[in-house]
Formats: sequence, C-alpha cells, structure tokens
Amino acid sequence: MLLKCAAVLGSPSPFAQCVVFGWCLSSRELWAASQGPCVLCSDHYLLSGQLDMEGALTARDRVGIQDFVLLDETTEAAFLTNLKKRFSKDLIYTYVGTLIVSVNPYKELDIYNKKQMDTYMGVNFFELPPHIYALADNAYHTMLTEFNNHFILISGESGAGKTEASKKILQYYAVSCPSTTLLNTVRDKMLMSNPVLEAFGNAKTLKNDNSSRFGKYMDIQFNSEGDAVGGHILNYLLEKSRVVHQNHGERNFHIFYQLVEGGADDLLRQLGLERDVQHYNYLTQGECAIVSSINDRNDWKTVKNALQVINFDEINTNHLFGIVASVLHLGNIQFDSDSKASIYTHLMLFSSQLLGVDAQSLQEGLTFRKIEARKDQVLTPFTIDHAIYARDALAKAIYGQTFTWLVNRINESMENKDPSRKTVIGLLDIYGFEVFYVNSFEQFCINYCNEKLQQLFIQLTLKAEQDEYEAENIEWEPVQFFNNKIICDLVEEKHRGIISILDEECLRPGDATDLTFLERLEDKMGNHPHFVTHKLADKMTRKTLERGDFRLLHYAGEVTYCVLMCQSKNAIVKECFSTMDPDSRKRPETVATHFKSSLLKLTEILMAKEAWYIRCLKSNESKQPGQFDEALIRHQVKYLGLMEHLRVRRAGFAYRRKFDVFLKRYKPLCPATWPHWRGEPADGVEVLVQHLGYLPHEYKMGRTKIFIRHPRTLYATEDAYEK
Ligand code: ATP
Ligand code: MG
Repeated sequence: MLLKCAAVLGSPSPFAQCVVFGWCLSSRELWAASQGPCVLCSDHYLLSGQLDMEGALTARDRVGIQDFVLLDETTEAAFLTNLKKRFSKDLIYTYVGTLIVSVNPYKELDIYNKKQMDTYMGVNFFELPPHIYALADNAYHTMLTEFNNHFILISGESGAGKTEASKKILQYYAVSCPSTTLLNTVRDKMLMSNPVLEAFGNAKTLKNDNSSRFGKYMDIQFNSEGDAVGGHILNYLLEKSRVVHQNHGERNFHIFYQLVEGGADDLLRQLGLERDVQHYNYLTQGECAIVSSINDRNDWKTVKNALQVINFDEINTNHLFGIVASVLHLGNIQFDSDSKASIYTHLMLFSSQLLGVDAQSLQEGLTFRKIEARKDQVLTPFTIDHAIYARDALAKAIYGQTFTWLVNRINESMENKDPSRKTVIGLLDIYGFEVFYVNSFEQFCINYCNEKLQQLFIQLTLKAEQDEYEAENIEWEPVQFFNNKIICDLVEEKHRGIISILDEECLRPGDATDLTFLERLEDKMGNHPHFVTHKLADKMTRKTLERGDFRLLHYAGEVTYCVLMCQSKNAIVKECFSTMDPDSRKRPETVATHFKSSLLKLTEILMAKEAWYIRCLKSNESKQPGQFDEALIRHQVKYLGLMEHLRVRRAGFAYRRKFDVFLKRYKPLCPATWPHWRGEPADGVEVLVQHLGYLPHEYKMGRTKIFIRHPRTLYATEDAYEK
C-alpha cells in the first residue's frame, strides 16, 4: 500500500518508509506526517506496511537503499553491501538515478502481475520502489509529453537477465497502454513474436539455458494517443555454427528439439522424422539433448500457437517445419570413405523434397566441385572432409536464411497501418559478453558488439555528461573512468583494426592461412595494451597461449580466441562473403565487415533517441536461486562502470532543460513570467525559479540550460503545473 506523506496508523504496528531516502518514520513522526508534509524530507511518498519485531527504524538496514545515489559513501563495498541486502529480500532492482541495476534472482518473483503494472502506471519515477515497470512507464510518458523517440538499452553478460527484462517491458506496454480491438491484435503479434524468435534464435549454452544467439532491436511504435500501433525488429548476426556443432553441455537451437519432441505423429511422418532427439547428429554433439529445466513439448505448443497469432498459414508453417526437418536430415547424411563420396539416398531425397529442390542437383552440390572452364563444366569429386564441409555449410546457410525470412514475416505481421506520425520506444536485447573454453569467430563478434554497447553507454552517460557540464560552464569535479574506445578501435579501425586485417587476409589471392593472419596481427598490433599473441604472451600476462591463438583484453575480461577464421582457406573465403552478387564488380563484404557496419547503423539509430538503461547482473554461475556470488558481482559492477556512473550522477544534476523550453512550460506558475516574458529566457527562468522557491543548491544556471540537481524539485514544479 502506498500513501502520499500520510501514515498508516492502524494497529498493531504501522511502518512507513520514504521511498526516495529509504528513511523510516518512527510512530511519533508518523503522527506528524499524517497531518501534513513528510517530516523528514518534506515531500515524497511513503511505502507503508506493518512493523515486524525489529522495529520501524531498522527498516532501512533491512531492505537497503533504493537509489544508490543516496548511499552514505560511494565505495564499492557500500555498493555491494546494499545490493546484497536487497537481493536477500528479493528486491532485485535498485536505481542509480534513472538507471536500473537488476540482479538475476533465478526464481519466479510475484512482481510482474497486472496489479503491479497498474500500481506503476502514470506514477513519477521515484515515488515507488524500483522496478522495470517504473522505467518503462517513465520512458512512455516522457515520449508522450515531449513527443520524441526513446530506447532502452539492456546490457549485462550472458545469463544476467536481459531477455527476461525485455519481455517484461514489452508485456508492460502491451497490457498498460490504451487499447482497441484492432490494436490488440497488433499487440498480440508483438508479444507472440518473442516465443517464435526464441525458439529459432535461442539455445542452451553453458552460461544460460535460454541464451540469445542473435541480437535483437525492436521498435515499438506509438501513435499520439499512446496506443501501441506497430513494431519492427532488426536482427543481428545469428550464431549459425550452432546448427552443425555444439560444445559439450550445449544444445542446438530450441526449435529442433521442440519439433522432434512435440510435433504430432502425422507431422513427423510427413517430415520423415523419428521421435527421438538422440537419432540426430546435429542434436547430440553437446550430449545434453534432453535437459530437465527445458520442457520442449510445452514450448512447442506455445510456438505453434504463436505462429498462428502472427499470421502464419498452414502452407507457410509446413514449409517452415519442412526446412527445420531438412536440416536434421542433412546432418545425418554420411559419406563413404572412397573419394567418390557416395551418400545415403533416402535422406537426400527427403532433404531435397522438403527443400523443394531437385535431388540430383543437391547430391551433386554436396559431392562434387563444379569448375567452369570457358564454356565447359568439370565435376571433380570432393574428399570426405570437403563433402562434410559442404553439407554443414548448406545446413547453416539454409537455417540462417530461414531465420532472416522469419524476422521479415514477423515484421510484416506487426507492420503499422496507421499513417499518422508516430514515436517509438526501442528495446535492445543482444547476446551478452561471454567467455568459453574455446572461443571462436562468433564469440569475437558477440564480445565486440558488447564493447560497442559499452562505448555507447560511456558516450551517452559519463562522457556526454561531463562534456555538457564543461560546455555549459558548470563547476564540476571530473570523474575518472575507463574508456573502452581503445578496444573498439583495436577491432574496427579502418585499415588497422583486426577486422580490416581479417578482410585483407580473406580476400588476398595466394596462400593466406591462420598463421599468416596471426603474423599480420602481430605486426600491426604488437605493442597494443589490449592485444596478446603467443609471441607476446609470456612477457605481458605470463599466461601461456597456444600457437595460433590470440587474446584480447576486453573491458569485461580477457578472452582467448582461436584463429580458425582462415582455417580452410577456400571454404572460409566462400563463407565470409555473405551475399555475393556475381555481376557486381565491387569487392564483396565479409561477415565481419557486414556486422561492423550493421553495428555502426545501430549506434546511429540509438544516438538519435533518448536513452534509458537497465544494467543486468548475474548473481552466480550455477543458476541457483538466492545465491549472491560477491566476487562475480563485484567484477560486473566494476566493468559495467557502475561506480563511475554513480559518482557522476551523485555529483551531477538529474535534469536539465533549455531555458526557453523550461520557461515555456512553467511560466504560468509565476505572475511575472505569465503570459509573456519580454527579456532573455535565462533571466525569465531565474525569476520563475525564485518565485517557485528553489534553493541555491538545488539548481544551477548554465549557458543555455537550467540544471536541476534532484528530480523531486522538478516533480514539485510539475505537480504545481498540473494543478
Ligand atoms: P544471454 O546473453 O545469454 O541471452 P540474458 O541476459 O538474456 O543472457 P536471460 O535469458 O534473460 O539472460 O536470463 C537467464 C535466465 O535467468 C532466465 O531463463 C531465467 O531463468 C532467469 N531470470 C532472468 N531474469 C529473471 C527474473 N527477473 N526473474 C526470474 N528469473 C530470471
Ligand atoms: Mg538473452
């Protein structure tokens, strides 16, 4: 129950805590508060309830502080103590200003129901205990009042809770925004896109039983009334290698297991599938096809239902599962040891039928190299290794293309039909930073992507904040922070970065191999503080490194990558070219470069919007409820830059507005500025805030903007405006 500065004095033992300061009121203060403004902080809401045996005054100690900005001291130890205290009470969210820190509880909490959603709807950010609904609601209302675009950046390492957070936010918008029957269908489609994309794009890894293996940015479009009228998804690099290979303890994408476990008998018969996941090579390499925490049969039902909601008719659905089945058949095709590489024809027939291609062409494609010499075609048989490679490459390509097709269909079904002007809230949920025993090209891309997002966070918060104080001539004690731009440059810089060198090696005619690639890296990066190879390892880190590996010291930790990028030269070169247009004279784009440019575009999309942040922390490595692994969490707090962010927020100003914007909105509150202020806007603002009773420490006047230290000051002004 929530009261606005009014105490609950019912028996037996009332308790009220200031939701901003976390202070608890004694019974005497409760009496006073019940008659007027809050006696301790003069405004704010009180969270009220019953006292337990420990007494009201200990409540702050028990539940910790809800906003780190209000901690007595800004040390890492105090930060962790507060986080731990709250986590032990299942309070997984804590603010740093308007940023949310979330700790994965690894258990279902009853905090995402409709009642909670209603509670948070339309309430000012700091008036209620921290929740992602508060952030979602605040972004939504700011969007409606200021008619601008927003995005919510959800970050954290693999298993930290990003996807769960993004789903909860989407649900919040789906349930809380105004609705009509027509719009409900758009909303259902947005919600139902999740189980479908998760089935095809998520998998069990060692870090997370439902790990996102693709990046996803989803725009939710709203009309001026605040109705959610459409959605659009951009997807980023799917980890296709998983289709044909899984490390020990990991699985392929969920959809394969769901189909084999949950598909109706008839369907499996049509697709030529056995109801036994162990039967399929592509499903069993991780030796954990069946996992107790995953119910493939139930998930299958959800996905089937979701496909209907997003307008998949029977024909499309059948084609889709036909493709999934064909990949499984391909994986079971074996090749004989003689160099002519014969294959099991019944599997080939099934695959070709399901894919709708001619069986002979498929067979030829998998077993022969076709060389065109002038006008003649020469077919040379593959070796077994080549045939296996061709089979796997085909399976990956089919699956990858199908995933893109699926995203396009989903986008069509969520397309907004309302021609009026719209604003959007974007949700970014991307694969988290990860380190495995063996890290390959995919981990390189995933971790590079996380570097980029960290860089964006730094640019938009720490750096921009400090730059603005400087530009506005606001007195300021600079806060030191680690800027990971140096690592982003190491990876992506033109002509000098790792991706450029990889491109050159992939495209270089001649004898490029893993080792020549490594040598070139060593030549160019030899002295870089974040780059280590075999040659340099002992000197720099004293940790051994295999020949052929290189290590990057990422912002979130060090990762050793095996340089299998150019392993089989011809094959990889082929695979590196995402879409090769035979008529094009342009140099083809490699996967890495394509990924780099898509991240650049994403950054541009995000930079044009107002940002909100959710920083997710993984509570422990063993996915156990209630376990708070302090060392693991400390490490994340450190690399996510939370302490620096806290210092900047604490020393800084929560709100800022251009003088003219501020004056335009609030001038009715002061007779001297209403209806017109004839002088300079800055002078008008000064007169206005004097009239409103702002104290000198509560605000500062910059060159072009007023800076307001605490949100409560602005809320009071906003409340007065609303009256
Ligand atoms: P990845 O980068 O691997 O995709 P992620 O950050 O998206 O990881 P999630 O899939 O969101 O991680 O979370 C991992 C698991 O943790 C979930 O499947 C769920 O079991 C649990 N979990 C995460 N957040 C919550 C929450 N708020 N409440 C309950 N359980 C949660
Ligand atoms: Mg995820």
